[in-house]
Amino acid sequence: MSSNEEMVLIKDGKRLDGRDFDELRDVKMEVSVLERAVGSAYMEWGKNKVMAAVYGPRELHPKFLQDPTKALLRCTYNLAPFSVEERKRPGPDRRSVEISKVTTEALSSVVMLEKFPNTVIDVFIEILQADAGTRCVGLTAASLALADAGIPMRDLVAACSAGKIQGEIVVDLMKEEDNYGECDLPLAIIPRKGEVVLLQMDGKLTKDEFKKAYELAFKGAMKVYEMQKNTLLGSMKRFVGEGGNDDGN
Ligand code: ADP
Repeated sequence: MSSNEEMVLIKDGKRLDGRDFDELRDVKMEVSVLERAVGSAYMEWGKNKVMAAVYGPRELHPKFLQDPTKALLRCTYNLAPFSVEERKRPGPDRRSVEISKVTTEALSSVVMLEKFPNTVIDVFIEILQADAGTRCVGLTAASLALADAGIPMRDLVAACSAGKIQGEIVVDLMKEEDNYGECDLPLAIIPRKGEVVLLQMDGKLTKDEFKKAYELAFKGAMKVYEMQKNTLLGSMKRFVGEGGNDDGN
């Protein structure tokens, strides 16, 4: 489709994939999916497929980068060459450097870095298939992988986006909506405190539209938080179940 052609994103009050304005795409999450990482998570969110893996804490080299008061958290977001329609040139670009930075900053506010002085905690986020909202999926998966690694955290970080398409405020934009819509607003929160750790905006909104989009993204992130907790609880139960067979626990 040429760029000046209008793309119909809403028909009879429903979105292209049949969703309501306040409806998330299907979300699936799983932890402990990689044997050699300290912690890991795999997520599918709509057509997005994302893997997150944690290594560390381990001693940081070169030594002059070490901080005797806390660990260094280092998140690396990577969009695989085969994750998008046209092959993406491998390696970091401005966009992935930016997403790595905002992800690191968002997670640094929950991980108890002060418990691991002079070390580095590496979090790798691999986008295997991309369909918009990947920074939200990556952040949500990274937070799960850190918890799976047993790294002490004050809370999880949960993320979700909202935006504007054909004049309507909707939650969780998919690729077509992101491409042809008017605005995308990714949000990440620390749910227990209700604190915002990431808020970006690509496009324009009025004050009222912003308020509505913010509220939708916030509600979406809270739903994601419930799923994260259930996933981690399920994984712990499995672990306890496996270990507790002898005494009937
Ligand atoms: P997010 O994935 O967090 O929404 P963007 O808004 O920057 O981040 O990207 C939206 C979508 O555009 C991505 O999810 C992906 O599907 C697509 N995209 C991003 N970068 C590229 C690229 N280099 N080549 C092709 N598609 C891309």
